[in-house]
Order: sequence, then structure tokens, then C-alpha cells
Amino acid sequence: MKQRNPYLSIDRQIVGDIYTNREVLDNLTVLCDDFGSRFAGTPEEHKAASFISDTFSRYGLKNVELEEYPYAGWTRGTATLSITEPINRHLHCISLPYCPAADITAELVSVGQGSPPEYSALANTGDGKLVMAKSSSPIDLGRWVHRKEKYERAVLAGASAFIFVSEHPGVGPETGSLQNNRPAPIPGISVCKEDGDFLTRCLERYGKIKMQLKTTDINEPRKSWNVVADLPGNETPEEMILVGCHYDGHDISQGAHDPASGMVSVIEAARVLSTYATDLLKRTIRFIAFGTEEIGLTGAFQYVEAHDNELNNIRFMLNMDAAGGTSRKGIVLHKWDSLEPFFLTAQKQLHADMPVGQKVHSYSDHFPFFLKGVPSCHMGDPTSAPSGRGFGHTAYDTLEKVALENLRLASSIGARIALRCANEDEFPAKRRSSNDVQKIVDTDPGLEGYRISLKLKT
Ligand SMILES: [Zn+2]
Repeated sequence: MKQRNPYLSIDRQIVGDIYTNREVLDNLTVLCDDFGSRFAGTPEEHKAASFISDTFSRYGLKNVELEEYPYAGWTRGTATLSITEPINRHLHCISLPYCPAADITAELVSVGQGSPPEYSALANTGDGKLVMAKSSSPIDLGRWVHRKEKYERAVLAGASAFIFVSEHPGVGPETGSLQNNRPAPIPGISVCKEDGDFLTRCLERYGKIKMQLKTTDINEPRKSWNVVADLPGNETPEEMILVGCHYDGHDISQGAHDPASGMVSVIEAARVLSTYATDLLKRTIRFIAFGTEEIGLTGAFQYVEAHDNELNNIRFMLNMDAAGGTSRKGIVLHKWDSLEPFFLTAQKQLHADMPVGQKVHSYSDHFPFFLKGVPSCHMGDPTSAPSGRGFGHTAYDTLEKVALENLRLASSIGARIALRCANEDEFPAKRRSSNDVQKIVDTDPGLEGYRISLKLKT
């Protein structure tokens, strides 16, 4: 039997507007071409925050604020990497965010893809060595081993420095921070796949090679901003739905796919909901552009601390990090089985490719909300196998790779999902107790990397 869609008329307005408009791509062009990487600590970061806040105001949103916060800043210096024995060779490398300044000469050792069994095989032989790991993950492991986990396992193994090797040919070195919001304990750098393969051949041919690594990066305190804007609810405005994405990218890249494609989709959802839903919205939809995600989810952690007294009133948090890119625009719930029927009903009404599933990871802005027990999801593909970033986090994450159709799909799904979360009277999820959160943190396979980071902290 066909079910009635009570949102049909507003769905048509929202989707019709988005698909007969190119505002979302114009906003992406400004973010990428005018403000470049928007990397934490650059003047373009602040310009991007101001542009987003001006755009929210222009679209008629209320309570538009730039919320300032301090964080551990980092500025890239030049890095050099050379083989010193048994041959002499210079290789191109880049420091990874939070790398300290250092000058180290040590023996190179490879841990392959840097999975837990490969690190176990290293046993005590990592002491003082330069530990090299590829960015890919073994397929049979069933999960993606994140760069941070590989780095942290290297630190725990006693390495003197970490070398991250891209798995993709032709895209140069892949960047990504070593720690969250603090200077890293040992240097970490990245080389391209081709140089990583060369180093692997050298290890095979010579058995033992010695390398020198010099880094000159600067770690110093800085300030950044979250941009917050509301579409107030008419019945219970204190109850809120959050729709967010970070706006900062990595300094070597435009960050067009990650995160800007998601950021402009959030802005587009705000535009159409402000145009068509202002009078009928029951609860408040709050849009957040998070700062400094790439170096530690700092903006999101800051938000949950600063808004601690409102967390009980957050019905749901939708994280749209990089959502306007090529991945499917599904609802990936963070272990909220009770919410699946709600989103499956929405799926039937939307007639869009929006798979619904459950999976949690600790590497984007939903995670601070997850830790506080707030019901949350990210937009993505719950069915996808663990895979690498492709051109993500490289110099090649550029504007022309983002398709307007993907931005339209992400923003039209995001807007309609936010509307349903705000207006349905039944929403079968309540904030989790810290005990219930802890149980998931202790056992979920997707949070193995987070458990390693806790080991390093203590
Ligand atoms: Zn991102």
C-alpha cells in the first residue's frame, strides 16, 4: 500500500528550488577559489567564517554568531628527508599537522599497512627507528585503520619518527593531523606512493638503510571560530536539531570535496528551509560551521563544552562532513537502532538514494556529540567497504572535481531530513547516559583507533 507523505508539498518546493538553482555551486566556488584551504591559523580561515556567517544572515537565519575559542595552533615549516646510508638520496616529504621541529638520524623500518598485527610483529624492534606505514588497510581486517592510529601505534612502539606513505599513485603525499589539538610527541611526515615504493625496494635490496629527517614546524596557541545560526522553531524552540559540517581544509589543498562540498550543502539546506519552512517549523534547526576539524575536531569539542546546558535539548545531530562529494548520501546512525524505522519512513517519502545503517567512527565532528550521548549520524554510505581517500587530503582535492548534482542531492536530502527531525512528534531516541556511551566506546570495532589514542594519553 502506498503511504501518504505529509511533507509532499514542502518537499516539492525544497527539491524544485535546489534543482533550479546553482547557488550551492557559487558558494563552493567562493569557499575554494577565494579562500583557498581555509586552514586553521590562516587569514583565509577567518574570511571563510565571515562569509558563511554573512550568507546565513542574508538567507534570513537568526542568532548568527561567530563563537571564538582557543586551540593548539600549528604552522608548517620545511621538512627534508634523505637516505644517508648505504646510498645518498633526497626525497620530497611534507610534515603532518602537529609535527614538532626535530633533527633525527635513524634506521628505517616498514610496518606494511600499519595494522595491529603488523605492529605486533614489530614487537620491540621499533625502538628509536623511523617507522614507515602505508595509508591503505588490509582488506581482511574489515575496518579502516586511520592514520592517527598508525602514528599512535608507532609512538607506543618507541619509534623516533613516523613516515606515512600514500596508497594512491599520482597524487603526491597525503596529509592529515598526527594528534587532536596538541603538539605530537614525535615527528610525522608523509611521502608519495612512488617514494614509498622506492624506500621499500631499498629495504629489500640493502637490508638496512639509515635516513635523516629534519622538520621545522611551529606549534603555538591560536584562536578559531564556529559559526552558529538558527531557524527558530515555532512550538518548542528550545528543542533543537543540529546540522553541521566543518569549513577548514588542509593547507596543501582547496579541500573542495572534504569538507567544502558538505559545508555548502549545509548552507543550501539552510537557504531552502529558511525560504519554505520558517512558519511551519516546530523545533529549532541550528546550522553549525565547525572550525579546526582537520586538526582535532576542535570546534566540535569546543561547541559541546560551551553549550553543555543545551545538550539535553538536542534531538538529533546530522554531520554532513564532505557530504556533497561522490559517496552515497545515506544516513549512518551512530548505534541508534531505535531510530532506523524513523529514517526508513523518511527514505520512502524522499525517493532518493539514501541507504540507512549503523556505524560509528571517531574521525569527524559528530564524535564529541556521540561522546556526550547526543543522538547523531553522518551522511555517507553505511554499506561501503573500508577504503582510502583517493585524492582526499592531497593537493588534488580541487573544485572542478565536485559535481553540482552531488551538491543538490546532499542538500535536498539534508534539508528534508532536518525538517522531519524537527517536526515529527515521535522521535524514538533519548540522550544516552555516560555509562551507555562508555560501553560502546569500550567494545565497538569502529572505535579501536580511539581506544589506542586513550592509551597514548595516559
Ligand atoms: Zn572532513
